[in-house]
Amino acid sequence: MKYISDFFGLLFPRKCCICGATLVEFEKSICSGCLLDLPLADTAKNKNNNVEQRFFGRIPIEAATAMLNFKHGNKVQTLLHQIKYAGNEEAAITMGRQLGIWITQCGRFDDVDILVPVPLHRSKERKRGYNQSMLLCKGIIQTFQRPISNGNLIRIKKTDSQTNKNREERLNNMEGVFCLLDEKAFENKHILLVDDVITTGATTEACYMAMEKVEGLKISIASLAVAGYI
Ligand SMILES: [Zn+2]
Repeated sequence: MKYISDFFGLLFPRKCCICGATLVEFEKSICSGCLLDLPLADTAKNKNNNVEQRFFGRIPIEAATAMLNFKHGNKVQTLLHQIKYAGNEEAAITMGRQLGIWITQCGRFDDVDILVPVPLHRSKERKRGYNQSMLLCKGIIQTFQRPISNGNLIRIKKTDSQTNKNREERLNNMEGVFCLLDEKAFENKHILLVDDVITTGATTEACYMAMEKVEGLKISIASLAVAGYI
């Protein structure tokens, strides 16, 4: 079988989804050079980091982190585009695996019980074919082993684009977007909400609103990327 895959590799070389370089056998979607070159959000490992600060006074969270710095035109933007809009499921799982290592290194998520991917609306997931946050979770558990809860927190409302809205309008837009089907399943649990990119935090806040009545629930947040303040 290896002989056959080598043969097809010569005819159709696999390319890095960020820089276009030909991948070697062990590389998955992203070349080692790009992986090393992605801008890490190193300050987001510590307590009171800029991701956590985004939620101060808004929602009570245990800990929050993001691995990459998103800026317009940087490699993270290309990567997120691949994961969200270009159907690159392998890149999402590869980056989830890296995010799992990051979460472990943070040392602040050791008592997390369950991973919860931020859900997409059913129609959007059907159209895209997958939920990128779920794929991130599938990668995370390769390096940070926890059960994944997919389908308990669900998205029941589609929203208009968040662009061109101020913070208050964004929050109004997000009201009643998510719903928790089984509160008991999350009682006295520490959940890690997994997202692809955090900008204003309005999506996370809306997820919290759907879960705030659950007894003894603790919430932490891990995102692949974080965007600067808007
Ligand atoms: Zn590359």
